[in-house]
Amino acid sequence: MRLRHLAMALSNLPAHPFREPALEQYGTDGETAARWLFSINAEDPFEETDGVIDLGAGNGILGIGALLLGAPNAIFVEIDEEVCKMLQDAIASLDLGGRCRILNGDVRSVNHDEIKRDIVIMNPPWGRQTPRADRPFLDTAARCANESIHLLHGRGAQHIEQWAETAGWVAKRWMDVDLPMPPIYSHHTKKRSSTEAAMWWIKRPAR
Ligand code: SAH
Repeated sequence: MRLRHLAMALSNLPAHPFREPALEQYGTDGETAARWLFSINAEDPFEETDGVIDLGAGNGILGIGALLLGAPNAIFVEIDEEVCKMLQDAIASLDLGGRCRILNGDVRSVNHDEIKRDIVIMNPPWGRQTPRADRPFLDTAARCANESIHLLHGRGAQHIEQWAETAGWVAKRWMDVDLPMPPIYSHHTKKRSSTEAAMWWIKRPAR
């Protein structure tokens, strides 16, 4: 699939409703998701993995993108029930149902041993509303990923490399993006409609 087609398919997914500011539901836009997933796929093809886990899936843009690039299956974890229904419809409309599992619940309560996959991909809450809200995502990712964790976070995040080292992983920031902000969050920053974000590739250290 070409980059442009992937960006179009992902931009056409139903938009996240962003009803719960406390859950920090900043979504990834279709262009950004497509560029990120394409870059990952060029280095480490999704079709050669045993599948992906999308933590804090929202409308499923990251997991669905990985599936469209050839990931054999995807597991989506999302706490918001309404959002899960929307995700289920999106998956059905793309005929991807047979390769997907949706877990409606908190990332803290997933059964790590049952859902292990080679790749975890996520744009978790960044901890701007609730300090350290990203930590349960990082910890769950470290338990569920066999090989790599792909993380989108605020560019100013200083703790990722240190967290990774402590958890026995190696984190490298490798892409920067300006993420469009949904209107619900732009009320206090009237002039800025985007926010600085970055992507980290967190791997098991080479043996
Ligand atoms: N992955 C999507 C959505 C990112 S927003 C994208 O990139 O566009 C983060 C998502 O995490 C929201 O949908 C929010 O409802 C969900 N979320 C927040 N806290 C959660 C938790 N503890 N467990 C599971 N999902 C959570």
